Amino acid sequence: MSIVAPKERKHLSADALFHLVRNGFASIPDARGEDVDIALTDALMSAFAMFSLKAPSLLAFDKERAEGNLHTIYGIERVPCDTHMREILDSVSPKVLRPLFKSVFGQLQRGKALEPMAFLDGHYLLALDGTEYFSSKTIHCASCLHKVHRNGSITYFHQMLGAAIIHPDRREVIPLMPEPIVKYDGTAKNDCERNAAKRFIAKLRKDHPHLKFIVTEDSLSSNAPHIETLHAHGLHYILGVKEGDHAYLFQQVQAAEHAGQVTSYERHDRAAGVVHRFRFVNDMPLNASNVDVRVNFIEYWERGKDKIQHFSWVTDIRVSKRNVYHLMRGGRARWKIENETFNTLKNQGYNFEHNYGHGEQHLSVVFAMLMMLAFLVDQTQQLGCALFRAVWTKLGSKRLLWERMRTLLYGYALQSMRQLLETLLYGWQKLQPLLAVDSS
Ligand SMILES: [Zn+2]
Repeated sequence: MSIVAPKERKHLSADALFHLVRNGFASIPDARGEDVDIALTDALMSAFAMFSLKAPSLLAFDKERAEGNLHTIYGIERVPCDTHMREILDSVSPKVLRPLFKSVFGQLQRGKALEPMAFLDGHYLLALDGTEYFSSKTIHCASCLHKVHRNGSITYFHQMLGAAIIHPDRREVIPLMPEPIVKYDGTAKNDCERNAAKRFIAKLRKDHPHLKFIVTEDSLSSNAPHIETLHAHGLHYILGVKEGDHAYLFQQVQAAEHAGQVTSYERHDRAAGVVHRFRFVNDMPLNASNVDVRVNFIEYWERGKDKIQHFSWVTDIRVSKRNVYHLMRGGRARWKIENETFNTLKNQGYNFEHNYGHGEQHLSVVFAMLMMLAFLVDQTQQLGCALFRAVWTKLGSKRLLWERMRTLLYGYALQSMRQLLETLLYGWQKLQPLLAVDSS
């Protein structure tokens, strides 16, 4: 069986995206001035290449052999050694990386590649969740959060608020620039996820003033100030709620049930052997102290062969029998930020929790942002580049794909990522045909 060359959306290919990222880095001013041996652009691009190739460290490159390809494929003029890269990146303020996320996202919009991710009436489902990616008793920096234990010992840690556009039917997730949860200059107090969410939402609206979003989060976010923040920024929501934390709301739903105001609805999926059971009611008070914050309530049971799963959410979208199943799928898709985003970064070669070096100021945060940027570029290719998908399908797993990419990159002189991916898809024969000798 022959494999047919897949058509490409050129601007969503690895080569086009790497070029875009490199140009983005090149427009970041280098605070060190002009008299430097390694340019900031090269230091940033080298770290990006490290995450793009899922290399455990820059030293894992056989530098001598890979340097030519790092130049042709990633546009790096001079590759710094590990120590030098860490020194340069430690002083970079993470916020300068924001335009990079926006420009890759812009490519997705341009190619209409984002459209299949739309969830409901042109709205995108945006999952937000906090995650911790570093913890140590000894290593720390100026940005570290810290916790003092009873015995006087201190744990230092890093967290961030991650954000990704998700869809219940799609494997891809589109990460946005995460909001670091860090200690800021001159403050002794730890930052928190709630403050980070406020900052994130303000920046989201600045970057994407017209995009329509439905934000989905866990039950910690179902509080009146956060709902007001979402509302003030024109964002819809589907947020988890728990009876233990939202007792008043559940009591009000019970009272509404007695008054005959709650709608029940069942849907049978015979093929899967599953029954979906819902009850919902619109216009409920969120809690006793915020009765003017009104929410629509959904409770849901999935009854399978051996187990019952139970979820509940509040949303500002009016719930009806027509949309309740779809809203439930949106609420349940929230796990994709943990599973398809954070766990992918931890377990599928990106080495999210691996210590690449911590630095004294920003290094740890800069590495986390660059890793997320590399993940965004990978997901963009997966969504928009048929060649990438064909190679992935052929090899069967991402782990093998990254491994084969590195092997080629270390061993052969290549002109582009397209050449590398085509080699993985077709083998060398097509690229370097043997001369046929006519012996007649
Ligand atoms: Zn730190």
